[in-house]
Amino acid sequence: MDQSKIDALRAHPIPPRGHVIDGQIVPASDGATMDVLSPLNGQVLTQVAKGTARDMTAAIASARAAFEDKRWCGQPPAARKKVLLKWAELIEANALELAVLGVRDNGTEIGMALKAEPGSAAGTIRYYAEALDKLYGEIAPTPGDILGMIHKEPVGVVGAIIPWNFPMMIGAWKLGPALALGNSVVLKPAETASLSLMRMTELALEAGLPPGVLNAVTGEGAVVGEAMGLSMDVDVLVFTGSGGTGRRLMEYSARSNMKRVYLELGGKSPNIVFADAPNLDEAAKVAAGGIFRNAGQVCVAGSRLLVEASIHDEFVAAVTKATATMRVGDPLSVETQIGAVNSEVQLKQNLGFVDIAKAEGGEVITGGDRILQETGGYFMAPTIVTGVTRDATLAQQEVFGPVLGVTPFETDEEAIQIANSTVYGLAGAAWTSNLSRAHKMVRGVRTGVMHINTYGGADGTVPLGGVGQSGNGSDKSLHALEKYVNLKTAWIKL
Ligand code: NAD
Repeated sequence: MDQSKIDALRAHPIPPRGHVIDGQIVPASDGATMDVLSPLNGQVLTQVAKGTARDMTAAIASARAAFEDKRWCGQPPAARKKVLLKWAELIEANALELAVLGVRDNGTEIGMALKAEPGSAAGTIRYYAEALDKLYGEIAPTPGDILGMIHKEPVGVVGAIIPWNFPMMIGAWKLGPALALGNSVVLKPAETASLSLMRMTELALEAGLPPGVLNAVTGEGAVVGEAMGLSMDVDVLVFTGSGGTGRRLMEYSARSNMKRVYLELGGKSPNIVFADAPNLDEAAKVAAGGIFRNAGQVCVAGSRLLVEASIHDEFVAAVTKATATMRVGDPLSVETQIGAVNSEVQLKQNLGFVDIAKAEGGEVITGGDRILQETGGYFMAPTIVTGVTRDATLAQQEVFGPVLGVTPFETDEEAIQIANSTVYGLAGAAWTSNLSRAHKMVRGVRTGVMHINTYGGADGTVPLGGVGQSGNGSDKSLHALEKYVNLKTAWIKL
């Protein structure tokens, strides 16, 4: 990464951004805009269109028209593949510009942003582009006088609601499979991080995606998100975000056309360290990175550290030491390992969780406060709290910030019980040299992904989906395609 190029890009003024509807960049129907604040300094970066329900309806109508006249789903797979591959190429060609734009908007440290945002988004779009002409229907094992065929048809109009922590990466997890299969999509980026995703949408048009196939409407979740959720003309709604919003989307579906709703929600993921871990220093470093990168704003963050009691003090000291080496600060410096918290609201919420943890008997052994306040930005010291009981608030509720709670355990069974004692089930890890114990942990911990002797980094070849209140359905891998098709049976008497 070249710091001088990053510094040149960070100085670029950002023009106000409109919606993308029917291939055009348009303002809100009533002309309203909303300020975009940078978490780096609390200053206004630019404005985006503050969408109305009418804007969302127009975007959905455009997507529907594009689907009905088959301008995209009717194209030969090879033609769709060419457009999507071109789009991936454009994302890569503009990677640094997109990453810096996104960091100015959401505060992720640039090293991670470059890899996880344009890097991952381009890879995801390419993966589904490559897959789309290798997907076949099925012939059923019927009696000889019948031909039973199972067609996989696009669902029609997909609504995609995206959070602020990794807008391009998570956006691509939905857009890649949905568009590859011929659907039309309406995107609703998050209020506090829409700029890079809107730019990525514009690049899709440049790549040759026909107008109307991909629309994007900015604005408040409670207005444009609600209009999408209640629409009678959205067939499938895919969402990543908080449980509270996820619940609302299910209600919207029930109150409207019973659209299918797929939710990727929060987590309280356990990182379980046994005394027989192959390398405790390595485990400590990875545990610190697994909670503190992107200031803890990672759905799969290992926010509960469960440590075998015999090594508790020694291991906590090693994690604290590893944490001290992580530099918090300007997310656009290549030296930074922990960037900004996305918003002031989120920062206050994080600090509130630390207060609750202390009141419930936890001991803050490092961090716990806001730092670098003179920058005007939203920075928080990485925080480790020990003495967190399994039913404490910090063990039960997602912070979505740089706060790690530590809980000791004695036996394998107790580790599994504590790990499974929340309503969530998104990710987890176990560190051990014992093969049987590793497999017991994979089987025993109820979660969508279980890491062994590592944390995070699962690539696009494997699914990511939660169990319990962490969600339903999966992003990534070929399994993600299932959300965006209808199965249609043809039963033919020969
Ligand atoms: P959020 O639920 O507040 O917002 C997510 C999106 O929903 C935003 O675009 C927002 O505008 C929209 N929204 C808000 N209210 C709405 C409404 N009434 N109707 C329709 N849309 C509405 O979540 P967030 O704070 O942006 O994201 C953080 C959460 O996302 C955390 O819980 C985190 O764990 C989760 N997350 C999960 C995954 C995963 O893959 N499981 C990945 C990343 C983040």
